[in-house]
Amino acid sequence: MARIRFTNVNKKYANGFHAVRDLNLDIEDREFIVLLGPSGCGKSTTLNMIAGLEEVSDGDLIFDEQVVNYVPPHKRDVAMVFQSYALYPHKTVYENIGFGLRMRNVPKEEIDKSVRDAAQKLEISHLLDRRPSQLSGGQRQRVALGRAMVRAPSVFLMDEPLSNLDAALRISMRAEIKELHRAMETTFVYVTHDQAEALTLADRIVVMNDGVVQQIGTPDDIYERPANTFVASFLGSPPINYFDGVLEAGSNGGMDFVRDELRLVLPEAHAARLKGQEGREVRLGIRAEDVAEGPAELEVNALSGTVNSVLPVGSDQYLGMDFGGKELFFRVGKDLRHAFGEKITLAVDLNRLHVFDRETGQSLI
Ligand code: ATP
Repeated sequence: MARIRFTNVNKKYANGFHAVRDLNLDIEDREFIVLLGPSGCGKSTTLNMIAGLEEVSDGDLIFDEQVVNYVPPHKRDVAMVFQSYALYPHKTVYENIGFGLRMRNVPKEEIDKSVRDAAQKLEISHLLDRRPSQLSGGQRQRVALGRAMVRAPSVFLMDEPLSNLDAALRISMRAEIKELHRAMETTFVYVTHDQAEALTLADRIVVMNDGVVQQIGTPDDIYERPANTFVASFLGSPPINYFDGVLEAGSNGGMDFVRDELRLVLPEAHAARLKGQEGREVRLGIRAEDVAEGPAELEVNALSGTVNSVLPVGSDQYLGMDFGGKELFFRVGKDLRHAFGEKITLAVDLNRLHVFDRETGQSLI
């Protein structure tokens, strides 16, 4: 069992910097949790508190039923994989993987079996006699994973473990880490600033900014129902487009979003949630993929503008569009053919619109 609970946890560094604020988080046994956010948001600090590498300043960190605030790292039954891999340069792969077990006086035969099993799972059996300097980045990463695996910890902690690998290897290692989680049946806490990594790996994502949790939810929750504009902007490529405008009563008790000439009739479900908010200044969010090429005669629920840029990205293309002096970016199929300066009309997928309060940035739907 390894359930991890933060209750009102704060971390202030010795210089007074408040890196994590009022963190409340329940991590279930065997869950894959990803801490996601920009550089400096407090992800690593949070992970290091779980590892025992940083002390909790205030609040409680609880493993199962035990408060572990003052439990030293080696008594926490956690294993950590660092971005830098932190391998011993003068030891062989075999010695690196087995090192933790040797320190714990595990019998030689047992170490041998664990090291060879891990190496086989990670497909590095043929590298056991090499030193780290004789390995590629991806192979070093596997050794670092192997070293954590053999300890069979209750909690597996990873701090940006793939960030030193090239793009193709990162994607294949993602799949392997997911498989490792399935096979090991332990709790994983994983730090990254890479949204795609978070979306593919996590059972739940914790989005942080400036030491404060912005939202906790499944990848679907976070992407489809962002709690605020920070979360909405942090996930999505190209990023979500925003329009500032006003809510107005529509026909048949509905609700419209209005900005100059643009009028979008919000779907019923949105209108129901926004009831009584006529006149409110809002920020509308349209994700890059939530448009389709609309018939030119569309007058409502459509955006008409001029093509500013066309950027093919393999299976899709990014379309930059000038809409009344505002630049919007959409992702459309590669078969749509548009030229610079062409006037086009795109139909908005209304069911997928996001509506935020303009002042606070909080979602209103
Ligand atoms: P990155 O992705 O860049 O590693 P992060 O989200 O993991 O960022 P942390 O490493 O947790 O961020 O750091 C959070 C904040 O705390 C940063 O502003 C950082 O400068 C600060 N910080 C980290 N360690 C210390 C320290 N020992 N003393 C003072 N401030 C620190």
